[in-house]
Parts: sequence; structure tokens; C-alpha cells
Amino acid sequence: MRLVLLGPPGAGKGTQAALMCRRLRLLHISTGDMLRQELQAETELGLKAHAYIEKGELVPDNIILDMVRAKLKEPECENGYILDGFPRTLVQADALAQFVELDAVIYLEVPFEIIIKRLSGRRRCPKCGVIYHTSHYEKSTCSCGGVLYQREDDKLETVKNRLAVYEAETRPLIAYYSQKGLLRTVDGEGTPEDVDARIAALLEP
Ligand code: ADP
Repeated sequence: MRLVLLGPPGAGKGTQAALMCRRLRLLHISTGDMLRQELQAETELGLKAHAYIEKGELVPDNIILDMVRAKLKEPECENGYILDGFPRTLVQADALAQFVELDAVIYLEVPFEIIIKRLSGRRRCPKCGVIYHTSHYEKSTCSCGGVLYQREDDKLETVKNRLAVYEAETRPLIAYYSQKGLLRTVDGEGTPEDVDARIAALLEP
């Protein structure tokens, strides 16, 4: 199965993708995580992307498309995957349609106020990538021992910019995929398990 998870920053795409991947045995492909890995390894791509990520802007389409095309050619992608954070623009969506036939696009719908709350309390483990929230988890270390941190782009000013970019660039994908008959809308409020159950029900034949 080839799926896309669509939704604003903080909608829970990363969290739901992890649960879905385990349940459906699919590969989780997060362009945000890929870019952060490139940055950590200080590759040319990572250094180019850094300036955009820092400001909450989108990394240019050609950079993202080269990265995703290369990834999807890897043998590990043959058994299906969930794309998280890609496509994020109409140009990316059109380019993807040239080389991949998607089974469904799951749109996680979450109200604006909840998104702001989720993003400002979000903490990430640098070692295993697990995401925690300060309202349910008070410790400063992950169960794997990693020291949790707040992503630079989760600070309030950047979050506001990311949401504005989402409205302008990514929201049009909802109509785009709806016209193609691929869009499945899911209520993204509630616990990750609640949302996962809704997604599972939607994908049933
Ligand atoms: P979130 O979904 O929480 O906004 P991500 O981890 O998906 O965060 O992405 C972080 C940043 O990486 C984005 O704000 C953007 O700068 C960059 N990025 C990730 N995916 C893409 C993409 N498909 N196109 C352009 N930029 C991207």
C-alpha cells in the first residue's frame, strides 16, 4: 500500500504514521526526519535545507523531489510506505503522480488551537525519534536514555510561520486529492490510539 498522510504541522502525522507502519507493516518516510538527518550529518543537502527549516519555510521543491525520488527507488520501499510531510505543494504532488500510484491520502483534521498547544509542548528524542508531550510526560529523558529537546522550529514565531505556509502551499492539496477521489478525512483529535482506530476503519476494504 502507498499512502500519504496530509495535515497541518502538529496534526500528529509522525505519531500516526509510526502506529500505522507497525500495524500495516509499511515503511515510514518522513521528509522532515530525512532533512534533519541530513542536517545532523552536515551533508550539502542538509546545510542547504537548514536556512529554510529554521525560518519555518519550505525547502525548495527541486531539492525535496530529488531526495524523495532517490528514496522511493530503494528496495526497502517495494513493500509499501507512508509518506509523511510530502507532498507539501501542488508541484510536489504533480511530480509524485508521475512516478507513483497512490492508494489513499489520509487527511488528519485538527482544529487550530489544538495544533498550537501540541506544537509548543512537543519534545523529541534525538536518539530514537520518539515524540513526547510535556502535558503527559514530565521527564526530560526518553525511555531509551536520550535527552529530550524542543525542535528549533517548534518555537512560537516559527510555528506561526509554518502554519501560514501550510495554509498557502499545502492546504490546496486537500481539494487536489479530493478531486482525484483519493482523499480520506480523519478526525485527528483524541489519543493516538483513537485516531489509529479511525484510520484503520477507513482503510478497510
Ligand atoms: P511538521 O510536519 O511538524 O511541520 P516536518 O518535520 O514534516 O514538520 O518538517 C520540518 C520542516 O522541514 C518544514 O517546516 C520544512 O521546512 C521542511 N520540509 C519537510 N518536508 C518538506 C517538503 N515536502 N517540502 C518542503 N519542505 C519540507
